[in-house]
Formats: sequence, structure tokens, C-alpha cells
Amino acid sequence: MMGNTRFTTHFLHETEPSQAAFLQHMNEAVDVLLRDFASADKPYSGIALDELSSIFRNRPVCPREGVAMEELLQFVGGAILKHSAVVHHPACMAHLHCPPLQASVIAETLLSASNPSMDSWDQSMSATLVEQEVIKWLAELFGYAREQADGVFTSGGTQSNFMGLLLARDHYCEQWGWNVQQQGLPPLANRLRILCSDAAHFTVRQSAAILGLGQQAVVTIPTDEAGRMRVDLLETTLARLHKEGLLPFALVATAGTTDFGSIDPLPQLAAIARRQGLWLHTDAAFGGALALSSRHAGLLEGIALSDSITVDFHKLFYQSISCGAFLLRDRQHYRYLRLHAEYLNPVEDDEVGVPNLVGKSIQTTRRFDALKLYMSLQHIGRDRFAEMIDHTLQLAAETAELIKRAAELELLAEPTINTVVFSYMPSTISGLDDRGADELNRRIRDCLLEGGMAVVARTKARGRTCLKFTLLNPVATLQDIRAVLQSIVYIGQELEQQMVSELMEIGRGDAS
Ligand SMILES: *Cc1c(COP(=O)(O)O)cnc(C)c1O
Repeated sequence: MMGNTRFTTHFLHETEPSQAAFLQHMNEAVDVLLRDFASADKPYSGIALDELSSIFRNRPVCPREGVAMEELLQFVGGAILKHSAVVHHPACMAHLHCPPLQASVIAETLLSASNPSMDSWDQSMSATLVEQEVIKWLAELFGYAREQADGVFTSGGTQSNFMGLLLARDHYCEQWGWNVQQQGLPPLANRLRILCSDAAHFTVRQSAAILGLGQQAVVTIPTDEAGRMRVDLLETTLARLHKEGLLPFALVATAGTTDFGSIDPLPQLAAIARRQGLWLHTDAAFGGALALSSRHAGLLEGIALSDSITVDFHKLFYQSISCGAFLLRDRQHYRYLRLHAEYLNPVEDDEVGVPNLVGKSIQTTRRFDALKLYMSLQHIGRDRFAEMIDHTLQLAAETAELIKRAAELELLAEPTINTVVFSYMPSTISGLDDRGADELNRRIRDCLLEGGMAVVARTKARGRTCLKFTLLNPVATLQDIRAVLQSIVYIGQELEQQMVSELMEIGRGDAS
């Protein structure tokens, strides 16, 4: 192939100029990545929002004539990479936002360069088979029967939770002789109910809304001290719903809540779901990775009894975004999604066994994210993977101990996985009330971010504003975390002084 020489260096293909350009630019890109991102000595540059937005405001998005790649990379390094949250920095620990494994980043390059689309076999031959192998492996990891189970890679937990509830809704309505795919929502749709704990992810409500059931369909069950769904209250709520003529059809268990990492009592929820004919969907977006750990896999006991499972790999599996999966215990249930498009997955293909994955997903064109997990698992190996996950849980447990020992800090709950929620407690003599304490914790968090010292999260727990560490980074050490805690105490004391003076100013103003 000669190709149109006018464009050859813009695409990767067989010619020498194309490959030379690619190699040179990839090398330059790597240099910029190492210089402007990997070498960062702070978790965030601390640049102010205004200053950062002016950089992009003042630059044309689409210039008339292109910019040389070398120059463009310098800009991207200096303006974008340099002002990113540095995910691999030990003090970057706000969210379920992980440093990606090198294997994942390398895979990302390969999959975007080869660009298979997972919807049809003729766009993704080897990729289709790899994804299916990884799905089967995952199904077994969670205790599903390999031949009966199925699943698909998704953009993440949001999409996976939506799929679980979509199938749950359609499965329930089918039992009433109603085909939602064909007929739309049944007349009694506004009586359908989904149960989950009050710590379940907001995407349960979002899914209910998108599924046409309304957020009113979601009934939340209070959690216990440890943040787990109260089984006794689940039973009484179910009885009440039935008495009111409402139609509970799905139970969402959470294996790893966002704030406390709590895991609902899965075996008990499964027993209730079975008895009451509810679809059990387990949202293991966060906690699913525990299945790899030899020390902590027991926390997921009972997960195999779920009808469907959400698991994210761009959290505790250290994959670059996006990477998640939806798993289904019984592949028959995929029939609620099935549609045939003549150009993608004609019925004849099914008959001769050509795998077109479009029927397993709500996406059409779809990324080959499975390659990232596949390469990571193969390169790292199960033992080392488990060690990494265990290290982060250990780190969270030790961090909680440090917090308990610090007079100025209060731990809200013992960590289950690797989030640690705590707050800075103003001293009693400063006279700050609860609202003052909330404001103080907010200011501590903002000050850490603006100073580029640490990226920590702020959340509400037990009615109070708290700080949260999400310790996903296997490279972080207790020394790193101790340093951040020391900064928090130091900054807390400074800001507390400042707030007390502000209050005194106001007090004097009132008096005069
Ligand atoms: C992160 C998370 C989600 C949402 O997943 P995305 O990958 O962000 O779409 C849902 N549920 C839980 C428990 C989560 O932790």
C-alpha cells in the first residue's frame, strides 16, 4: 500500500515515514509524561482555577493550520499534565481514583492504536475472544458457574448498575406476562420498588429515574453502626411495601460503600431476595477487588448468590479509566436486551455461532478495555495483585490507628476496606460550635488542595463534615500518610486560631 502521501504521517501504517513519525512522537510524548507528570513532587500544582482556565480560554481549540506535534506536546505537558491531580502521589487520596498500572497504560496505547470495536466480530475478532475469556474468568472469581454466567465490559459502575436494574425490571415484568422491551412500562410501573441501603451509590436512584420508575421507586433501608444494611429493617420494610400494594422487585446490595467501604450482609440479603422473589444485584464497584485477596476475600462471601454484579477495574484493580464490568449469573437473562441489527448482528450469525457482543451491552461502538485487565493480570500475576490490595487495606488500618492516637483528630469508623473517614476536632476552649467545626474541616481540605499539599475528600457522615482518605495507592507508605496527618493537625490549628479571631471581630462589631 502506498497511501495518499499527503496524509501518511498522520496515521500509523506500513510506510517508513508513518512509522518514523509515530516512533518519534511517542518518544516525545513519553518524555513529556515523565517530565511534567510522573516527576511531580506534589499531588497538585495548586494553580488557581482562574489562572488555569485562562490558559485554555486564550488558546484556539481548532486553529486554521495545525501545530507541530513537538510544540503541541510541550503545551500539553506544561498546561494539562502539570495541572492534573497526580494520581500516583501518595498524598492524592480523595476518591476511588487510582494510579494505573504500567501494564494498563501500555495496553491502553495498544488498544487505542489498534482500535477494535467490541460490537461485532468483524470489527474485533481476537478482542472479542479475549473479552469473553476475561469475563469467564471474572465470573468464576465471583463464584458463578462459568458456562451459565455471562457479562460484558462497561464504562464503569454507573453503567453496570443501570444494566442490573434494567434486567431486574424486565425480568419482573415478564413474570406478569408483560414485555417491557416491546410494550414499554406496564400500567403499574409507578408501584415498582427497588430496595437498597441508605449508603448505596446514588446511581441506584439515577437508574430508577432513567428506567422510568422515578426516584420514588428507591426505598432505602437504614444502616447499622458499621454502615451495613439492617436486615431486620429490610424485612419490616418489605412487609410494609406489600401491605401498601407496592411491588418490590429488586434488592441492591453494596459491597464497598463509597464513604466507609461497608459491605452489606450478602448471604442474608440473598436468602431474603430468594424468598421474596427479588432480583439481587450486588454493587461491588469498590469492593469487588477483594475477591483477589487471600486475606480478605471472605468479606465477599455470598456474592455468588447475586443475580448480577457490578465490578469496577478503574478503582481497586488499578486500571486506567474507563474499565468496569457487568456480570450476570444466568446468561438467559440477556434476552431482555436482545435486538438484532442487520448490519451488525444478524440472526444468522447467532445460528452459526459468530460472537457479536453488541447484544450484551447497552453500548454499540465499544472500547476494548478488557485488554488492560488481561495484560495487567498476566503481567502482575495473582499473588502480587493480592499483595497490593492487602497492602492498601493494611495501610488504611494503620492510618486509622494513627488517627485514634492523635488528640486533635477523631476517627468516624473503623475502616472495612481502604477508606478512612475522620475529622479535625476544634479544642473545647476555642468555642467553635458544630457548624464552626464543619467550616473548619472544609477549610482544612481546601487549604491542602490550594497549597498542593494533599488532595483529600470532604464528606458528610453522622451529620458532620469530615475528611476522607481513600488509600488505593499500593506505593504509598505509612510515613507518607503520617506526614499528611501532621499537616492536617498543623493547618487545623492555624485555621482554628484564624476562625476564632474572625468570630471575635464579629463579636466586637456587634457590640459597637
Ligand atoms: C464508583 C462507584 C459507582 C460508580 O461507578 P463509575 O465507575 O464511577 O461509573 C457505583 N457504585 C459504587 C459503590 C461505586 O464505588
